[in-house]
Amino acid sequence: MFNTIKKIIKYPRLTQDYPYKSIDSSLFLGRTEINPAECNMCGECVSRCPSQAIVMDKTSNNIGINYDECVFCTLCEEICPTGAAKTTNRFELAEKGKSMLRSNTLIIDENNMTDASHEIICSQLEVNIKKIFGRSLYIREVDSGSCNGCDYEINGLNNPFNDIERLGISFVASPRHADMLLVTGTATRNMQLALAKTYNATPDPKLVVAVGACACSGGIFRDTYATSNGIDSIVPVDVYIPGCPPRPQAIIYGILKALDRTK
Ligand code: SF4
Ligand code: SF4
Repeated sequence: MFNTIKKIIKYPRLTQDYPYKSIDSSLFLGRTEINPAECNMCGECVSRCPSQAIVMDKTSNNIGINYDECVFCTLCEEICPTGAAKTTNRFELAEKGKSMLRSNTLIIDENNMTDASHEIICSQLEVNIKKIFGRSLYIREVDSGSCNGCDYEINGLNNPFNDIERLGISFVASPRHADMLLVTGTATRNMQLALAKTYNATPDPKLVVAVGACACSGGIFRDTYATSNGIDSIVPVDVYIPGCPPRPQAIIYGILKALDRTK
């Protein structure tokens, strides 16, 4: 008993408060951004980006990154001669429409979650989940042909630091018990039928969340004979979470965004 109390005092509570409270993201690797005003349009980053995610238009002096394709490798920052490309610590990047992740993000998704709705969902997360589903939110994770990077981050949601069960969210073993599919991978040829069957086996109403660059767009495997360019060519997607892989907090944010859709 004495030893247990000693341990409790020695090792304080590890579980984070995100998303109820913001988290110190100073050490997070977020998205890289390019400032067109500092760019000399040399095209070095465009030709060397491993994911061909950078779009440059010399006539209008515009340059930007398609975040559904970017693998967050930071190479463009390393090679940029003018310092126009900079890696930020922004990690709350999930969007309900893929168009919102494209370099021409001028297309506004009217259903996008506002800061206000983010706050409301967070403050009443468990209550809302119970109200919508009558119990916890059940998630079935589907690997449709990933490298397992995203799957490791999803596993991290259950560790003591993230402890997603504290939010009333649980993982289940069967799509028949699930409310949401968290899908990783490009939907390789061999997994396309399995993904479609899993989707059909999930009872309505269901949510589908694409996790990582591969699931969002095919990532670096785009346009190959063995993959599709993102899972939305196989099943409808409610929320896209960019990243390679997205960190657990980015996945939590994406799940929140998907819950906002249930309204
Ligand atoms: S971070 Fe990497 S993948 Fe993303 S735009 Fe830059 S070079 Fe391309
Ligand atoms: S490497 Fe830098 S300066 Fe050259 S096009 Fe890319 S962002 Fe612009």
